[in-house]
Amino acid sequence: MNLTDSNLYEELRTFLKEHQVSKNETQIEQHSHDESYHKVSPPDLVVFPENTDEVNAVVNVANAYQTPIIPYGLGTSLEGHVIPYDHGITIDFSQMNKVLVVREKDFLVKVQPGVTRSQLNKELKKYGLFFSVDPGADATLGGMAATNASGTTSVKYGVMRDQVRDLEVVLANGELIHTGSLAQKSSSGYNLNSLFVGSEGTLGCITELTLKVYGIPEHVVAARASFPSVNDAVEAVVSILQAGVPIARVELVDEPSMKQVNMFSETHYKEQPTLFLEFHGNEAGLNYDVEFTKEIVADHQCEEILFEQDNAVRNRLWEARHNLAYAYVHGNPGKKLMVTDVCVPISELAGAIEHAREKVNELGLNGGITGHVGDGNYHILLMMDMDDPNEVKKAEQLNEQIVDYALQRGGTCTGEHGVGVGKMKYQQREHGEALRVMKKIKSALDEKEILNPHKLVHQKKTDL
Ligand SMILES: Cc1cc2nc3c(=O)[nH]c(=O)nc-3n(C[C@H](O)[C@H](O)[C@H](O)COP(=O)(O)OP(=O)(O)OC[C@H]3O[C@@H](n4cnc5c(N)ncnc54)[C@H](O)[C@@H]3O)c2cc1C
Repeated sequence: MNLTDSNLYEELRTFLKEHQVSKNETQIEQHSHDESYHKVSPPDLVVFPENTDEVNAVVNVANAYQTPIIPYGLGTSLEGHVIPYDHGITIDFSQMNKVLVVREKDFLVKVQPGVTRSQLNKELKKYGLFFSVDPGADATLGGMAATNASGTTSVKYGVMRDQVRDLEVVLANGELIHTGSLAQKSSSGYNLNSLFVGSEGTLGCITELTLKVYGIPEHVVAARASFPSVNDAVEAVVSILQAGVPIARVELVDEPSMKQVNMFSETHYKEQPTLFLEFHGNEAGLNYDVEFTKEIVADHQCEEILFEQDNAVRNRLWEARHNLAYAYVHGNPGKKLMVTDVCVPISELAGAIEHAREKVNELGLNGGITGHVGDGNYHILLMMDMDDPNEVKKAEQLNEQIVDYALQRGGTCTGEHGVGVGKMKYQQREHGEALRVMKKIKSALDEKEILNPHKLVHQKKTDL
């Protein structure tokens, strides 16, 4: 069906208001890319549903017209996830942005998919609760579930998959299902929560999420520790984890990245490999953890460790860390961000980061290394001149080399950003025969292949 013919638009307008179906050039452009360097491609239409029934009706129309549907949260993903390579209808969830129920006693919250993590935390604060997953961008919870996002606190609280109790999902054929329950544990049936979390909009549209939340800790202490080398910093993290210190956050920022932090956030932190740390707990336990950590980092040549209890100073510290990718973007106008994202077993982390730095230097690239090192997850941030084919080729080579290194050591090609189009080429190598099972699941749930085509498991186009 040719979408320039107005049938589809008219059909959508029978149940969506004028402002809910857009062909506006600016909105089409906004939905033709994510935050990555991947090739852009526009949708034909963008729709803004306000409830599950409307999502359902859009899916039914798309089904009848065999038109692609691309679920869209805020478009902050980094591997081309939301780019409509076959055009079609982008479903923007920004108008489904209500916190529906807070079940304080159950530590659960039910939200619509367009609620962002900071919006949720603002609401939860009134109840003395917080939601733990905090990717660098202020993403939507629907997008975060669909990518199995994680962030600085995952070392203690787990990733998005660990927080999802139940999802309401509109399937490609228009059926509405729930993937879980409110119960804390269950041995009933296949684990559909886990299947839909990380499915990147290829298996269904998430229209509601029930998520686990936590009590705001009684005491929080943050710290900044500087080391002479990245290797010393990483070895210190491994020792902290091996000693069983219940660390809530531990982030590595290398020397070039500390320079970017200081320039962008107007801070005056030491420009050396640095660990940003945080401890949550009661005062007595926390004092013990802090003292123990001081001893451990001293054994790894830590040159300075500064602790912060003041709320405002702590927030500033984490804001500076969260803004790191934006600091690189801001400091390199005209260039595009490529962030690598591998995850290795913690015992392999120091070697992996050392290997990554060697490769960056060998290729003559300019990149900073940072990571959620408590999870064995690290990133290289590269600012690329997309008009320089040599630089692009080198960046791709680097990506290949660090993925290879991770896979050879039992790691994964993506710790948190997901597959999108960028990591599809590694799926066979990482999953082997299991990829065939994934493709069968995709075909069973999306027979006509209308849901976010050419992503995660399917690659029909050769030039992506
Ligand atoms: C500066 C920066 C820092 C980042 N840091 C991190 C980080 O620390 N950790 C991390 O994990 N990620 C990080 N990311 C990546 C990104 O923020 C996450 O992948 C995030 O989860 C995407 O959420 P979104 O709302 O923007 O979703 P989008 O980008 O809009 O969509 C992402 C995927 O989810 C699907 N989707 C969206 N909504 C739905 C829905 N309702 N139903 C079904 N599918 C849906 C889309 O089709 C797409 O495949 C970072 C990105 C940036 C730009």
